[in-house]
Amino acid sequence: MRGQTDSWQETIVALATPPGRSAIAVVRLSGPATRSALARVAPGLREPIDPRRATLATITDETGDAIDQGLITLFPAPASYTGEDCAEISVHGSPAVVARLLAALNRCGARLARPGEFTERAFLRGKLDLPRAEAVIDLIEARTVAAARRSFHRIEGGLSRRLQGTREDLLTAAAQLDAAIDFSEDVGDAALGEAARRLRTAIDDLERLAATHETGRLLRAGCRAVILGRPNAGKSTLFNALVGSARAIVTEIPGTTRDTLEAGIDVEGIPVTLVDTAGLRETKDVVERLGVERARQEGSIADVVLYVLEAAAGMTDEDHKAIASAGARRVLRVANKIDRATAEQTAAAEDAGAMAICGLAPDAGEKLRGLLAREISAGLDMEASDEVLATLRQRDLVERSRAAAAEGLATLSRGDSPEYAAAQVHDALDAMADLFGETTAEDVLERIFSAFCVGK
Ligand code: GDP
Repeated sequence: MRGQTDSWQETIVALATPPGRSAIAVVRLSGPATRSALARVAPGLREPIDPRRATLATITDETGDAIDQGLITLFPAPASYTGEDCAEISVHGSPAVVARLLAALNRCGARLARPGEFTERAFLRGKLDLPRAEAVIDLIEARTVAAARRSFHRIEGGLSRRLQGTREDLLTAAAQLDAAIDFSEDVGDAALGEAARRLRTAIDDLERLAATHETGRLLRAGCRAVILGRPNAGKSTLFNALVGSARAIVTEIPGTTRDTLEAGIDVEGIPVTLVDTAGLRETKDVVERLGVERARQEGSIADVVLYVLEAAAGMTDEDHKAIASAGARRVLRVANKIDRATAEQTAAAEDAGAMAICGLAPDAGEKLRGLLAREISAGLDMEASDEVLATLRQRDLVERSRAAAAEGLATLSRGDSPEYAAAQVHDALDAMADLFGETTAEDVLERIFSAFCVGK
């Protein structure tokens, strides 16, 4: 991929911490010129450098002009993240210091790394399989604690071990089929029976794994929940209750939220982007009309719409029209301001399927969170398993492997030649090899790693 054998001769460098001002910035190096580059930017460092020990040194450019004082840690090959000689240089988090250091390291033979190139090298050198490498980006990008926990479990190899177990079942099935083909008289029936048993186990497990993808997708991509309703229904109040802080401007003048406002919230582990919108109504005000149009657009792309109405008014024709005009797919109705409604009005709203709420009450946020959680994770068992398939690539390959194994089993059940079944089981194993990244096409790998940040 990307001429990896040539590019392995190259030493790469990148800022591993976010750009900008910070207490510390970490610059990372990997490749054959790591030690020589360190010797030039830290000439005071005693050779040989103590492996894996942070050492204080004056950092200079290649001419010896001091840049900063920093900590240098060398991770010699092969016991490093990439499997190559690697180093981390911690300096003061000043963009000027970082720029000078990167330029100096460039002149010492290290080129700037591409996004994800450190992890790509770790993968290519066999330090990580592909599911684990993919989990690295997921951990960095995780927006909730639950998402981070699952990603870390995959980095540790949780998913890989489970897939490996299934792969072994498939390998045993293949070996038994080969035995049945080669020595049909002696071992035939027993071998075919064992092959079928292993295939069944593998198929069950692959099926269970494929079913985790929706959970994995939600944890990774999250969902978009849009609050819609007529002006003054209490949308901003409910937005604030959900966000838990007064981010939206709450006012008594109808039509003041003219643009949309977004906040990221954690709904039982699922990252939800919550969007507050302008009230839906017919209006001649040009600016407000733009806001209403924007709200409708948001409604049409939302995964879930929270439609807010006033409990005392109930669902009016205007509300029905507003919902229809937004073209939303999933609509949850919230009957707000029950403190201003009669018991009958509240009961009527509930009978019509709305959740009755007082947006100003202290438990409003919790109630709304529960409503969203039930809707978003309906049908998903969020606690079912730590191993979830995070990407569509993984889901598709698991499904391909399962389908091929199922065909193999069907061939055996029909009593057809074990040769056919063996070919189908090999297809299932091929999908597994692709899953682990052993046979994955270059362009697919490139797409995976280019989604990483530079320095990872
Ligand atoms: P939006 O235009 O739909 O965003 O509505 P706001 O959130 O700005 O609320 C409009 C007004 O209704 C504000 O004065 C809120 O304080 C008030 N309000 C919101 N929820 C409730 C509620 O449950 N009970 C009462 N009594 N007032 C509420």
